[in-house]
Amino acid sequence: MKYYINTYGCQMNVHESEKMAGILEKMGYTLAENDAVADVVVFNTCAVRESAEQKIFGNIGMLKNVKAKNPNMIIAVCGCMSQQKGYPELILKKYPYVDIIFGTHNIAKLQEFLVQKQTKKHVVEVVETEDIRLRDSMEPTRTSGTNAWVNINYGCNNFCTYCIVPYVRGREVSRPMEDIVCEVESLLKQGYKQITLLGQNVNSYGNDMADENITFANLLKQIDNLPYKFRLRFMSSHPKDLSEDVVKVMANSKNICHYLHLPVQSGSNKILKAMNRNYTHEHYMSLIDMCRKHMSDIEFSSDFIVGFPGETEEDFEDTIKLVKKVKYQQLFTFIYSKRKGTVAEKMPNQVDIKTKHQRLSKLIEIQREIATEISSKYIGKKLEVLVEGIHPKKKGYLLGSTDFGKTISFEGAEDLLGSFVLVEVQKSNNTSLSGKIVDILEKSNSEYRLPLDKIRRK
Ligand code: SF4
Repeated sequence: MKYYINTYGCQMNVHESEKMAGILEKMGYTLAENDAVADVVVFNTCAVRESAEQKIFGNIGMLKNVKAKNPNMIIAVCGCMSQQKGYPELILKKYPYVDIIFGTHNIAKLQEFLVQKQTKKHVVEVVETEDIRLRDSMEPTRTSGTNAWVNINYGCNNFCTYCIVPYVRGREVSRPMEDIVCEVESLLKQGYKQITLLGQNVNSYGNDMADENITFANLLKQIDNLPYKFRLRFMSSHPKDLSEDVVKVMANSKNICHYLHLPVQSGSNKILKAMNRNYTHEHYMSLIDMCRKHMSDIEFSSDFIVGFPGETEEDFEDTIKLVKKVKYQQLFTFIYSKRKGTVAEKMPNQVDIKTKHQRLSKLIEIQREIATEISSKYIGKKLEVLVEGIHPKKKGYLLGSTDFGKTISFEGAEDLLGSFVLVEVQKSNNTSLSGKIVDILEKSNSEYRLPLDKIRRK
């Protein structure tokens, strides 16, 4: 019996698909080549953008004929899209051949749903809360190569006006610190070389707990003290909750990368207020300065939304000013699109699509110049690199990443996967670096399942 999982959206979903793959493999399923030949197909969905939703519907639609030929195929739809009010009914109306629908809070019950399906036409269960210990007890089938994802908190309390996440993932709940440290230690023992802590807002880790020592800074400190060589990353960080304590722990650590993804979304104070982000352009810049004061080598990335309702040329210029001041290594840019059920959906002064595209192009062009300039400063430098994969296009070449999150390619043998090497940078462009290995710092003897070999991300 074979399974296939189609994963959409963020890293949180990637890791949840790993957990569902773990359940299915425990039940005896093995990975299928593609969804058309699988006995169980899971769509782990995203609701952040309307375009994602259209893509998911299209892909479910594509299985209609396959299922007609193979009525025993089981199709399950779960995740943020099915958690939304009215969506289970909508999915069943449009695609009556879908067998199982569940939301974001009960992925741990996948096996139970498959059993129920044997005696029911449809199994539909969307609940509002969950027991996070049940979710944490799931043993994932990890598929992200040398990296292991580790959840530290679930849900979000922030209600940014454009975002659906708090409605589909519920309020913030932190995992006990000892459970997280124990999971990380076990992953390092297994040979994982990079740990990425996951939360909608990692900086508010512990805010829901009575013990004031349970903070993100203390969690980072405890993990950093584990006696292994590894890289520690985290995402996402809400600027309003980034504390100097966290930055100091980063600066004084052995393993925490000097790289911070700090989503700002806009440089205009008027738009930040309308987005309910709870910080200003000036406060954000003071955080950047504070990070650079403690870590002169830190690099940043960020998320931007252009064309938020009410965004004028002047507001957009404030965004450009901020981008030029910070000089991000990388930007993730998005055009604002209405999300049903959010506050911003009903805001007046929606920006027309042509203007949104013009602003996006301008932002991308400016960022391209900045990223090229940043990359070029590394030419001639020797950087510690974690070997993460095989180059998909150049035979005999490997791919790795620097501490500050830049992809770098170089010639090398496949058995270096998971090793730390020293690479001298020879060339650069706006997105990546290339160079040659000048030393092997720590050779890995672990085996890794490379990214995308199991759960293809859409
Ligand atoms: S912090 Fe804002 S953007 Fe991020 S998940 Fe929460 S509501 Fe959404």
